[in-house]
Amino acid sequence: MKTIYFDNAATTPLYKEVEEEMKKYLFEDYGNPSSIHFLGERSRKALDSSRTLLARELGAKPHEIIFTSGATESNNLAIQGLSRFERGKKKILISSIEHPSVYNICNFLKKYGYEIISIPVNSEGILDLNFLSSFLQKNSSQVLLVSIIHVNNVLGVCQDLKKIGELCKKHSVPFHTDAAQSFVKIKINVRDCNITFLSASAHKIGGPKGAGFIYIKEKTDLFPLFFGGHQEKNLRSGTENVPSIVGFAKALEVFKKTNSNSVQKLRDYLFKELEKIGGKINGSKEKRIFNNVHVSFPNKDSEYLVLALSEKGICVSSGSACDTRNEGEDNIFKALNIKEKNLGSIRISLSEKNTKKEVDFFLNELKKILRS
Ligand code: PMP
Repeated sequence: MKTIYFDNAATTPLYKEVEEEMKKYLFEDYGNPSSIHFLGERSRKALDSSRTLLARELGAKPHEIIFTSGATESNNLAIQGLSRFERGKKKILISSIEHPSVYNICNFLKKYGYEIISIPVNSEGILDLNFLSSFLQKNSSQVLLVSIIHVNNVLGVCQDLKKIGELCKKHSVPFHTDAAQSFVKIKINVRDCNITFLSASAHKIGGPKGAGFIYIKEKTDLFPLFFGGHQEKNLRSGTENVPSIVGFAKALEVFKKTNSNSVQKLRDYLFKELEKIGGKINGSKEKRIFNNVHVSFPNKDSEYLVLALSEKGICVSSGSACDTRNEGEDNIFKALNIKEKNLGSIRISLSEKNTKKEVDFFLNELKKILRS
């Protein structure tokens, strides 16, 4: 059975070029970048050039990039690290459609006296900027942080970082964005958008799992999550994961050469064809990442749809909220004010490797499953 992989928002296969690059730092130049001998020096150089490449993509300075194990850790570092440093400010604003790695930290912080303000989104999944603006107008002196996901992992909808950044700047409030789903896919300039913290992850763009970074605007103070050998400007102690970091930078280079237009065409074709068979596309079709489709079918079970497709070799994600493997879809439906029960939803997230033939095969199989 041929595998048809439509779950690129969950993770992506490693690019061959990335594997080659990583091998070098696993088997030849394997030195610890803190060692002063020549092997250590080679690793240090590889680390520095990866940092420079990744920083450039965001219009950031290399010293503003701190390597982490991925976006989960980066989100934790931004929110927890800042809360440990800035003890007085107890209000955190997030969107109502954050990833669990943001909203679960915030839920935890409630135990320590933090008030978490969830900014609503409209029925298309787009943030209510008026709510943000008027809240900041009244409360900015008590606000620790505004944390807004750039591209939502379930719906693929995209928020306007520039407008959010302007509001945060006007009220002198730090701004964090979780860009795990958008880094490299959508151009972001951290200075233009007045971003203080940005989280990114390698495995969403053909890099290895377990590698990511956080951009931290220079002169921003925060405490680390853990203590040790002072690596990464003392913000992320532990020997740097050089092969994966080098792999991340290589993935950036390879990903930038891919053609998002052809992926978008396939996505738009899916929108049309899924609607023809009774599917309802969730989230804005315009303010959306080029590779995401999130669709609901009434009176169907999400897990059933995912598993039935899986039996045919097709990998998609569930849009339901019934297990720990989902990525917070339940919250998303609540945020969109979708009250219908028995709504079977699936997320299809494409890559440049997918073809129209695969999409047609999927549509055919889905039609059969929906009839059964
Ligand atoms: N944020 C978002 C929006 C994501 O999609 C993901 C991955 N599902 C994460 C954070 C977590 O990233 P990582 O796997 O690198 O920890």
